[in-house]
Amino acid sequence: MITVTDLTKVYRQGKREVRALDGVSLTVPEGSIHGIIGHSGAGKSTLVRCLTLLDRPTSGRVEINGVDLTQARSDALRTARRRIGLVFQQANLFDSRTIADNVGYPLELIGVDKAKRAERVQELLGLVGLPDSGDAYPAQLSGGMRQRVGIARALASDPDVLLFDEPTSALDPKTTNEILDLILSLKHLGNLAVLVITHEMHVVKRICDSVSLLDAGRIVESGPLVDVVNTL
Ligand code: ADP
Ligand code: ADP
Repeated sequence: MITVTDLTKVYRQGKREVRALDGVSLTVPEGSIHGIIGHSGAGKSTLVRCLTLLDRPTSGRVEINGVDLTQARSDALRTARRRIGLVFQQANLFDSRTIADNVGYPLELIGVDKAKRAERVQELLGLVGLPDSGDAYPAQLSGGMRQRVGIARALASDPDVLLFDEPTSALDPKTTNEILDLILSLKHLGNLAVLVITHEMHVVKRICDSVSLLDAGRIVESGPLVDVVNTL
C-alpha cells in the first residue's frame, strides 16, 4: 500500500514561487486502483516525479508499506524506488534491445542471473499477453504492444506499487480499451496498489475504484469513483 501525506513541492523562479503540489495526501491499498485526474498544469507531472523521487518534494511523506521513501538516501533510495513500477505515456523502450532484454533490464541492473531472468521475463510476457514476442524488437510491435512491454518491465522487480503516467494518451480508442483491461486484470494479482495519473475522465471511469481530483496542486475531491464522478 502507498500512503502520501501532505506532499508539497514549491519551485522557485527568482522571487516567484510556484506551488506545484500543495499538501497532497492519499492512500491506495493493495488490490485497488486509484485515479488522479487533473487538467494541464494541475501538478500531475510533478506528482509523478515526487512519488518516484526523481524530484525531491519540498515537504511531506511518501510511504510504501510504512517505509518513508523521502527519508531514504543513495543505496536505500535505489532499493526503495524499486518498490514503485513506473509506466510512461510512451513505453520508452530501448530500440536496440529485444523485447525480452527490455523487460529483463531492471533485473539485469540488480544482478539477477541470465537463466532466472529468462524465466521471469517469459512469465511477465505471458502476463501481459505477449508470450511469443520476446525475440522481437520494439520497432516491430504496435504502440499497444509496446505499452504492454512497458507494463511487463515495470512489473519485473516485483513492485508493491504500479504508477501509470498518462498510460493511454498516445493510443487509439480500441488499443486504449485493451490496455485498460490489462491494467484492470493486474488488480486480481491482489498485491499491487495501482495509481493512474491521467487527464482523461473515460480512463478513470472505466478502471478506477477511487479517484482524486487534482487542481492547482491541491486535491479538491477524493473518494469512491461514483461519488467523485457525481460532483463533476
Ligand atoms: P501537469 O503535469 O498537471 O500539467 P505540472 O506538474 O507539469 O502539471 O505543473 C504544475 C505547475 O508547476 C505548473 O504551474 C507548472 O508550470 C509548474 N512547474 C512544473 N515544473 C516546474 C519547474 N521545474 N519549475 C517551475 N515551475 C514548474
Ligand atoms: P507534461 O506534458 O508532462 O505535463 P509540461 O509541459 O507540464 O509537461 O512540463 C514539461 C517539463 O517542463 C517538466 O519537466 C516540467 O517540470 C517543466 N516545466 C513545466 N512548467 C515549467 C515552468 N513554469 N518553469 C520551468 N519548468 C517547467
